[in-house]
Amino acid sequence: MYQIIDGKKISQEIKDELKEKTAALKADGKSICLAVIQVGSDPASSVYVGNKKKACAYIGIESLAYELPEETTQDELLALVRRLNDDDKVNGILVQLPLPKQIDENEVIQTIAPEKDVDGFNEKNVGALCVGSKGFVSCTPFGIIQLLKRSGIEISGKRCVVIGRSNIVGKPISLLLLRENGTVTICHSRTENLKEITRQADILVVAVGKPKFVDETFIKEGAVVIDVGIHRDANNKLCGDVDFEKTAPHTSAITPVPGGVGPMTVAMLMYNCVSSVE
Ligand code: NAD
Repeated sequence: MYQIIDGKKISQEIKDELKEKTAALKADGKSICLAVIQVGSDPASSVYVGNKKKACAYIGIESLAYELPEETTQDELLALVRRLNDDDKVNGILVQLPLPKQIDENEVIQTIAPEKDVDGFNEKNVGALCVGSKGFVSCTPFGIIQLLKRSGIEISGKRCVVIGRSNIVGKPISLLLLRENGTVTICHSRTENLKEITRQADILVVAVGKPKFVDETFIKEGAVVIDVGIHRDANNKLCGDVDFEKTAPHTSAITPVPGGVGPMTVAMLMYNCVSSVE
């Protein structure tokens, strides 16, 4: 029988711990404030921003919402980010991605002050992760490590395979697994004999961005499978990068979609906000 790694439950535990910490910080006269910037009205982004605001309210973090029109220019957005960088009341700045095409995402991310970059995307924080020094870790990969640890899954010494090498998931989760002493292999769109490699994994992290890409033929019997993908299938039902029905019976533990990695991203964003003040 396999274990379902319950991201909803684990993220709730983390939010409850953070709520207590925030109350203690408040009693010490310290408040936490997150500025959330959304440009345009992409429906998926609005849902994510809404979830972040709700989590802030639950934990006791003040959130400032900046909803800018679709036609906002690069200069206008950069000016707002710089203003928030200089605002002592603001501890964290989050710019919801993706941004409209007239805006250079990378320049925006690099303009956020590293000590307020609670998404962990700024080069200074990515570099810190790389060399193992202190900095914000990006939320989805950080959440995956929490899921594994809080489910009692050992990473040290294990063969970890990651499918995907994106800056927001594949690369940082590979570095984090390495930091936890896993033996890590990164696979990507040019990898040859993919299944030969994934079948060696004790822990397989799938961030390929293709619905139900991984099935039981990709895994070793008893592997742990972490599914990062979020998609809607032909029946408009949420699904991941892993075909859960086919794969789960061959695993020892697996994350479902929804209710696996997804809720952890917001919880770890809140964690980063609280630690920015601590
Ligand atoms: P991406 O498209 O940037 O990266 C996909 C990666 O998969 C690339 O590095 C590519 O090389 C690799 N790839 C593509 N085809 C492949 C193939 N045939 N074989 C091997 N590798 C292949 O995607 P991303 O931003 O890393 O996101 C991955 C998935 O995770 C998406 O479904 C996304 O929606 C989801 N996601 C979820 C959360 C969350 O909070 N749960 C956060 C971020 C991303």
